[in-house]
Amino acid sequence: MSLLKVEELSKLYDGETRVLKNVSFEANAGEFLSVIGPSGAGKSTLLRCINRMVEISGGKVKFDGIDVGAMKKKELRKLRTNIGMIFQHYNLVPRLTVIENVLHGRFGYKSTLQGVLGRFTEEEKERAFFLLQKLGISEHAYKRCDQLSGGQQQRVGICRALIQEPKLILCDEPIASLDPNSSKVIMDYLKTISTELGITCIVNLHQVEVAKEYADRIIGLKEGEIVFDGPSKVLYRDQ
Ligand code: ADP
Ligand code: ADP
Repeated sequence: MSLLKVEELSKLYDGETRVLKNVSFEANAGEFLSVIGPSGAGKSTLLRCINRMVEISGGKVKFDGIDVGAMKKKELRKLRTNIGMIFQHYNLVPRLTVIENVLHGRFGYKSTLQGVLGRFTEEEKERAFFLLQKLGISEHAYKRCDQLSGGQQQRVGICRALIQEPKLILCDEPIASLDPNSSKVIMDYLKTISTELGITCIVNLHQVEVAKEYADRIIGLKEGEIVFDGPSKVLYRDQ
């Protein structure tokens, strides 16, 4: 079943630079998809169009059958709870604790930073703790998140996305700042999320090898256009 449908999507910044050109693809529920391509290809812009962090210039993005480009503010808020986002630089709030960062995701990042814990129910805190346990970092729950290693911070980022119970998780270069061991841990968790929880994952990567190892399907993006879309086993090293 198709969860996401991108049709002839185009994106221009400042009304002139065309960064995405007629990009079309679909993603099914539970699919693990990787978008690869050189820096500047438009991978990050593509993810930002899907959850409308940037406005769409042309074409359509449909999530669960609904036109994302036409969504009003209230619908957008709902969309962003259905779509989790994971970033290269984790984008955690440094002076909050790990568990506060996770709970913060629950409010679509718009809550004020003071007294975060006090505004959540015991059940919500338990759920956050449970996720931290699942990701193997519950012992750090009450530390400031900037005391954690990069790999651990990215696991907090995953928990923050999961607490919203999303249908789709967009990951923008999630391992680009990590060493090979931490990268493997993060990719293994993302894979588990798609296979065991049935959450669709779209992961931007610049390492073809990693994409081939983990993704069901790879989309190759070059200068804003799709140059490859197929099962990862079909993609050869030199493509
Ligand atoms: P990638 O993620 O593949 O590296 P990006 O989507 O970040 O590619 O960038 C694609 C192109 O769009 C680049 O040339 C980049 O400089 C440009 N770009 C990205 N964000 C903006 C922006 N906010 N304003 C103008 N140009 C942008
Ligand atoms: P990263 O990909 O590591 O998050 P970037 O340097 O690609 O960082 O982008 C940082 C921010 O600058 C993003 O919000 C991006 O949209 C914006 N950006 C990137 N390229 C341009 C550009 N050419 N003009 C204006 N903004 C840009």
